[in-house]
Amino acid sequence: MPALERGACSERGALQRLPELAWSVPVPNFTIMQTPSSLLRCWFFAAILTAPLLGQINTVQTVVPSVYFHEGDPRRGHSNNGWIVLADFVVVIDANYPSGAQIVMPKVKETSDKPVRLVFDTHHHADHAYGNKLWADAGALLVASSGMLEEMKLVDSGAFGGAPGRWEAVAEKRPDVAASKLKPPVMLFPKELVIDDGQTRIELRTFGWGHTRGDAFAWLPKEKILFTGDACVNGPHNNVADGNISEWIKVLELVKQLGAEKVCPGHGPMGGPEIIADQQSFFIELQRAVRPLWDQKKTSADVKAAANAIGEELKKNPRIARYVGGAIGSQVQKVWTEFGGEPFPK
Ligand SMILES: [Zn+2]
Repeated sequence: MPALERGACSERGALQRLPELAWSVPVPNFTIMQTPSSLLRCWFFAAILTAPLLGQINTVQTVVPSVYFHEGDPRRGHSNNGWIVLADFVVVIDANYPSGAQIVMPKVKETSDKPVRLVFDTHHHADHAYGNKLWADAGALLVASSGMLEEMKLVDSGAFGGAPGRWEAVAEKRPDVAASKLKPPVMLFPKELVIDDGQTRIELRTFGWGHTRGDAFAWLPKEKILFTGDACVNGPHNNVADGNISEWIKVLELVKQLGAEKVCPGHGPMGGPEIIADQQSFFIELQRAVRPLWDQKKTSADVKAAANAIGEELKKNPRIARYVGGAIGSQVQKVWTEFGGEPFPK
């Protein structure tokens, strides 16, 4: 997960590198340039490219009355959030980073005077779970799948009596994380947990190993609204480090069967069921593009060298072009290693 390079900016570069920061560092300025003229040019392109994508960021969107979506700011590594107002309390989807939680908490209060009683982490990644302590301190119970806690114990070993792990690494780069503490979920469900107050029903459901082994979704069957976490994103935000792309495709096939009409992804704007289908297509096409290299017995170095060209090829497909970004190298590598190939040389 390389940080943005100083001076690096292209028409696509600024945005495409952002997803890699999903659980790493904030990006205070991604248009650092050497000269005023190139700075202006870079801002110009960044402005054009970010205008449609950043339009809804940090604004509260009403999915249906009492169900809200909030698109996090990728420049700060923030995840999206959702919240659902029930008769007596509010359920929040994802804790975000601490700085993301601080942005969302007052907005939840603006939409309801009811207390946040449950915060559901869709998975263990920093940008979805490291803000847990803020919500817990405010009185919420933290809920997640059992698989999420298992994943958290693996990577955040420092908080569980082991060697320093991901939390400590992220805390070195993010003051908001450094100022907080890891707070694991306390209410766990192996496969499914239902919250139902007689009016609103929320099903927290698992479908297998996709983005992480602990992925869970929030499904509102009456309203046909689905909160996906990072198992489905809308844009170049696929971090595949803890994922399994072959299984992920199967998970998305199951998720499609829910029949969601409104899909609230883990990163990127809200949309309809096409987001799930397009996300799945991206991975299917990625596998299809890497397969011939495997059949031709190419080396890992060959495949690494071909990764950007694969990305360019995928961009020609309008359904999936938006998923291609700066993480294409790690995505190609993941597919390659799942086929049985060696990791790419450094
Ligand atoms: Zn994630």
